[in-house]
Amino acid sequence: MEMKIVFATGNKDKMREIREIMADFDIPVLSMREAGIEADPEENGSTFEENALIKARAVWKECGGIVLSDDSGLEIDALNKEPGILSARYLGHDTSYHEKNRNLIQRLEGVPDEKRTARFVCAVAAIFPDGREETVRGVMEGRIGYDERGENGFGYDPIFILPKYGVTTAELSPEIKNEESHRGKALRLIKKEIAAYLDKGDGDKD
Ligand code: IMP
Repeated sequence: MEMKIVFATGNKDKMREIREIMADFDIPVLSMREAGIEADPEENGSTFEENALIKARAVWKECGGIVLSDDSGLEIDALNKEPGILSARYLGHDTSYHEKNRNLIQRLEGVPDEKRTARFVCAVAAIFPDGREETVRGVMEGRIGYDERGENGFGYDPIFILPKYGVTTAELSPEIKNEESHRGKALRLIKKEIAAYLDKGDGDKD
């Protein structure tokens, strides 16, 4: 079987980002759909890493090769790290991010700047052709603002201020956000693992 990387997502933005990062490998990077797989397992783990592995295992069972999967979310310290692994499900899947963001700002009413610390977390899981599993984690530290700002990005970006730039991640260009982001960092870490695997020559076996 020809070596390939399958990324367990249906999200186009994530696919673009991973293709850019993996571009110097000479092997195809496919979305689940492109690989002809429809896996939607229940993400019932208690950490980002567990949830990433649950998805990766479901896809790997179907197609083998190298499978990658990510799970991410926002941790707000003053809210006991909520919404955390429930970030996508916070207030229900169908609630708009405008409402989710407004709700979080409301819950932080009266909380001073120095206690508004938060981070985006991304775990990426990889399963290799021999079944070996690896997880890595990327983090972007920041704090929660007092209103929504910016039109770029998605999800909680309009309320997440990156101190280094003094603006929200919804106000950053996609290039800068990818450089700084939890997902970019985690994908670059897993890239090293994949490079090591391919360098060992194991890549020719499958
Ligand atoms: P998942 O990793 O696709 O399950 O998504 C996790 C959820 O975390 C997303 O739906 C967003 O709400 C939030 N999230 C993860 N990364 C980001 C980001 O870079 N910006 C804004 N929200 C994010």
